[in-house]
Amino acid sequence: MRVLLVEDSNELLALLKRGLAAGGFDADTVNTAADAAHALATMRYAVVVLDCGLPDDDGLSLLRDMRRRGDRTPVLVLTARDGVSDRVTSLRDGADDYMAKPFAMEELVARLHALLRRSDNMLGRRLTFGNVALDTEGRQVIIDDTVRTFPARETAVLEILLRRGGNVAPKRLFEDHLFGLSGKVGSNAVEVYVHRLRRLLADAGANVKIHTVRGVGYLMAEDKGG
Ligand code: CA
Repeated sequence: MRVLLVEDSNELLALLKRGLAAGGFDADTVNTAADAAHALATMRYAVVVLDCGLPDDDGLSLLRDMRRRGDRTPVLVLTARDGVSDRVTSLRDGADDYMAKPFAMEELVARLHALLRRSDNMLGRRLTFGNVALDTEGRQVIIDDTVRTFPARETAVLEILLRRGGNVAPKRLFEDHLFGLSGKVGSNAVEVYVHRLRRLLADAGANVKIHTVRGVGYLMAEDKGG
């Protein structure tokens, strides 16, 4: 997992980079807010560790810029030991967590892992199966790192299947989600959208298949090829 470390003390950066590597993170390091902005514009990070006090700009103003741009990458802010106002401000400005210096490396690593779990799984923001992922907020489908936009109902069908994680999703579930409580649902309406979704996935190179479980519903399974 790639993390961006923004910290002006090279000594602390080296320490952080080693600690994070041991924790399974691959860290890019920068010393200034300008370099951080550049890195964020060119790379996608799983998480950002951001020092409040940077030589060229306030770390928190970088954070505000990120959120203003719609960048929702999880950010953990590092504050000075007595920086109570920084901690409060950082949360208000869109930080997901903070730690006061000095801190134990194990705690930082544990918190970063917790942040990633929270942002990806607990909030259900990103659902994945095989090489297919769905950003449930942006409503974008990501297949092998290529972002695609599927029509709304096909995307809704995909979300239901992904949330079931390989278990059968009853047909009723699709009808409720696709058509709500209003109006009558044509007998083959769900089949139509499942069929379209199958084609979209196949055309995009997805390694998953949607199987029909006769009389019950549908389930998603990895396509082992052949
Ligand atoms: Ca600093």
